[in-house]
Amino acid sequence: MKKYIVLALCLMLAITVVMHNRPPQEAATPTPEVPSGEPPVVMPDPPEVNEPLPVVENANELGRVPILMYHRIVAEEGEWARSIENFRNDLKNLYERGYTLVNLSDFYDGKAQVPPGRSPVVLTFDDSTRGQFNYLLDAAGEKYIDPDCAVGILLDAYARWPELGLAGTFFLNGNPFGQSEYWQEKLKHMVDLGFELGSHTFSHPFFNRITDEEIRADIVKLQLQVWQAVPGYHIRALALPYGIAPRDRTVAVSGSHDGVSFNHSYLMEVGAEPAFAPDHVRHNPLSMPRIAATDELLSRWLDWLDGPLRRYISDGNPDVLTYPDELQEQIKKTP
Ligand SMILES: [Zn+2]
Repeated sequence: MKKYIVLALCLMLAITVVMHNRPPQEAATPTPEVPSGEPPVVMPDPPEVNEPLPVVENANELGRVPILMYHRIVAEEGEWARSIENFRNDLKNLYERGYTLVNLSDFYDGKAQVPPGRSPVVLTFDDSTRGQFNYLLDAAGEKYIDPDCAVGILLDAYARWPELGLAGTFFLNGNPFGQSEYWQEKLKHMVDLGFELGSHTFSHPFFNRITDEEIRADIVKLQLQVWQAVPGYHIRALALPYGIAPRDRTVAVSGSHDGVSFNHSYLMEVGAEPAFAPDHVRHNPLSMPRIAATDELLSRWLDWLDGPLRRYISDGNPDVLTYPDELQEQIKKTP
């Protein structure tokens, strides 16, 4: 543990040095004209904020991370369907248990901020159905986000509980989210709101029943569709349709078809347990487990995660890896 504290101090020092040496940012607003004869107005520098991070006694950045799997969000709970009411309650429950929403790739790339003492949770949505993101029209014919769709519910929860954060990874198929007149606008809107777009392939095939070339073609078709709405968007993650991987898993990771290449970093399974932390020796980005969001599985796994040394708890500092001594052997060895 000590060497990490030393490392932390070095890093903080290095960051401070870097920040001080950073060239001044381009001014966002033009410099106001100063009438001749009058001395220019000099704005004082803002006071340096150097608040130390709070020490999180139980920080555990080798702990497990729940990646929840949602499908349809609709009025009635059912198979592959979470009710609107239950989805709202899930967000409240996650907030109260100390979780903060993160996008899958942001978190696993080490780019997501999780406040000190809180735990990351990834919400994933498969099949890009209308209940996940729906527009309604007001009396004047203006579009607005349906407050009962997943995106609307996430926005509302974030407004209530800012520490819950606003994130979610949506695994898209062809013709996403119904309302064919708005699909491009919706994808762009989601990216603007900070959500992540993932691939679930264009036509949702069984990967074990088609050729490798057909797999690549289907993946590229979905990617080209996303690019129509959000040019050049890098899709980082693919959720395996039906949870079935190609015989050679790497076929779904990277490749090209018709001169268009794709490059995924993460493959998502269907089921069945909390995922390993990014720095855990057992983290396998090409086979990431997810927990189906049902009453039974959610309460079972969230209760399990509250057990000793189980769940990921952030130290609040993305530059330092903090974990209990007992887990020393579980750290991923970097070559
Ligand atoms: Zn699916």
